[in-house]
Amino acid sequence: MSEFESERIHKEKPYKKAEAVAEPEVKEVKPAAAQTISLDLETLIKVIDTAVSRSAEASSKMLAEALTESRKPYVDPRDVENEKNMRDQMKKVKQRMDEEIKSSQRNCGHLQGSNALSNFTSPFGLTSIVQHVLDTGELIGICTNCLRIFTPQDEDYGFWMRKKSGNQMSQSGQRFSTRVNRA
Ligand SMILES: [Zn+2]
Repeated sequence: MSEFESERIHKEKPYKKAEAVAEPEVKEVKPAAAQTISLDLETLIKVIDTAVSRSAEASSKMLAEALTESRKPYVDPRDVENEKNMRDQMKKVKQRMDEEIKSSQRNCGHLQGSNALSNFTSPFGLTSIVQHVLDTGELIGICTNCLRIFTPQDEDYGFWMRKKSGNQMSQSGQRFSTRVNRA
């Protein structure tokens, strides 16, 4: 035996061994009833009928379930995810806007020209507050610069509302109660 041959046999040996282990012994299972059966035609028809109707029943059930399932509106999970992200984004934008408004209201001089975009502040010290009479008769002020609303409940209401405004006072229509008018 050459050196090459002996090496080949040595190499093949473990493979052959593994193959022998991996191959399970197959036993042929012979069913007990694998013999010839004899049925009369009527019984055979009954057997076939039962088998067919059972199979049809199962198919109808499956079909009905599939139809019910198909009627449900399909919601793409990616859409759900996108909507959630959009809502979160909008919430953040709204929060930032609210913070900016608050900060601008804190820093606003409520004077004409106090807006950062204006060239100069009013030399007369006129406020940028519009005084407005509500239909309830209450007088409020709205700064046209920072949109802050001054109500009689505010501590600095008197201070700002006594100052001369660069804007004309505005007034809502008056609310009349018809019942009061008739009386
Ligand atoms: Zn202001």
